[in-house]
Amino acid sequence: MTVTRFAPSPNGPLHLGHAWSAIVGHDRAKADGGEFLLRIEDIDGARSRADLADEFRRDLEWLRLDYREVAPQSQRVATYRDAADSLRAMGLLYPCRCTRAEIAAAATRMGPDGPVYPQTCLHRPIAPGPGVVWRLDVEQAADLCGQLTWTDERRGEQVARPELFGDVVLWRKDAPASYHLAATIDDAADGITCVTRGLDLFHATHIHRLLQALLGIEPPVWHHHALLVEADGRKLAKRRDAPALAERRLAGEDGRSVAAELRHGLLDTGISFADTLLLDA
Ligand code: GLU
Repeated sequence: MTVTRFAPSPNGPLHLGHAWSAIVGHDRAKADGGEFLLRIEDIDGARSRADLADEFRRDLEWLRLDYREVAPQSQRVATYRDAADSLRAMGLLYPCRCTRAEIAAAATRMGPDGPVYPQTCLHRPIAPGPGVVWRLDVEQAADLCGQLTWTDERRGEQVARPELFGDVVLWRKDAPASYHLAATIDDAADGITCVTRGLDLFHATHIHRLLQALLGIEPPVWHHHALLVEADGRKLAKRRDAPALAERRLAGEDGRSVAAELRHGLLDTGISFADTLLLDA
């Protein structure tokens, strides 16, 4: 049985791009009688709004997507801490005090998430405490695991390339766990068999696959779907005034028709699907 999920972060309203993501997840699971889960990714306490999570539930109902909600990330912090502790016990995490500006100034290459960490703190004695993040020693971790592969349903087998990101932060100073650690643990805990999400997160899977190998997690398959983009090729974004689903819902539009149009590839003027990888590194 296929189990998929939609995992929105409640830091801004959902727009059409999210609707598409939820539809892909929902339809992929329902095609073989599987289950579609909603997981609120509210790990970032300072930016998360409980009222938005409520809106998300209403949006999914409006789109007529049948879902089962699982525990939000804010209730799972102990599981992230256990995973970080075990990685630390394996000698694979190291503390870092570098600021964003220091990293940007010293970095020699760019990765999918921005400047790749130049490993300034890797061999430095840094006292753990406030203001310290914990990074994964990706080279050592990858050596330990050997070559890893993963499968995207639409793009076939991939060789994991976690080195694209360099030493990612797994334990943050402000939010506890990073997205990479939390999503990996949650997908395993929720029994997700097919991770459906946008192509913008394709490369993140290289890191998630490495974390799974380190933590003894059986990999699911992935389905990275096309993104909705504006005329200038940029992803629809909360920040860029993409109309909220909630606004359309409150204006009396029929969510079932909105979902049907998306399924048929009928998009509003100026919006299209982009199905190419943003970073072909
Ligand atoms: N919470 C992430 C977001 O809102 C989604 C992460 C995922 O699907 O793995 O973009």
